[in-house]
Formats: sequence, structure tokens, C-alpha cells
Amino acid sequence: MKIALIAHDEKKDDLLRFIDKHLVFFKNQELYATGTTGSRIIEHTGLDVHRCKSGPLGGDQEIGAMVANKAIDCIIFFRDPLTAQPHEPDVSALLRLSDVYDVPLATNEGTAEAVLYHLSHKDRG
Ligand code: PGA
Repeated sequence: MKIALIAHDEKKDDLLRFIDKHLVFFKNQELYATGTTGSRIIEHTGLDVHRCKSGPLGGDQEIGAMVANKAIDCIIFFRDPLTAQPHEPDVSALLRLSDVYDVPLATNEGTAEAVLYHLSHKDRG
């Protein structure tokens, strides 16, 4: 399964903890990430991650383009709801495209847990 991982700066540590917790699952997926999130995941876990550009430099739009091309099956995006983001329009565009193409997108850890539970059970048929 092709999974995109994104975390705003204040949420990157939370995403790393989440990945640690589900490392076996993530080892068996094809992973994509925005630039800094991807670097942090690679440094922290050694997982193979295809890195797009950093979010504020177009990374969210790159992932959006993959969604539009049906090249992403799921997005886990740990958003920071308390900090203004310079690339908020790109974030909104990604959320919109995930709705257009009906791609599951988790924007917080609680939803990410539910989505992963679903996907890991679906994987087993
Ligand atoms: P980053 O981008 O992984 O390059 O920090 C994430 C974002 O802010 O969308």
C-alpha cells in the first residue's frame, strides 16, 4: 500500500512515536513523505521513504498530485491546529483532493489509529 506521511513541525515527534508503535505495519508499506518529515522518519527508523519537497515548498502539492493520479492509498497528516502555516492553501488543497478521490486521510493520531486498524485488517483479507 502506498502511504503518505506528513507532520507539521510541532507534531513531528508525535508522528515518529506513532510510526515506532506501528513499525511492523509501516515496514511493509511503500512510504512517501514531505521533505522534513521524511528526513526525520529515515533518521529515526531507517525506513525506506520516498521524499517529496518540504511542505511549504510544494511537498503537499506533490502528494496532492499523486492522489489525483491514484498513486496514494492513504494519507496520515499530523496537523498542528494551533499554529498558522504559510502554506495553508496547499494543505486545504490536499484535504480537498483526498475528498475528491475518496482517499482516507487522518489528520490526528486518534483517526490515524482507526485508519491503520482498518488497513491492517484489510491487508489480511
Ligand atoms: P515538512 O512539511 O515535512 O517538509 O516539514 C510538512 C508540512 O508542513 O506540510
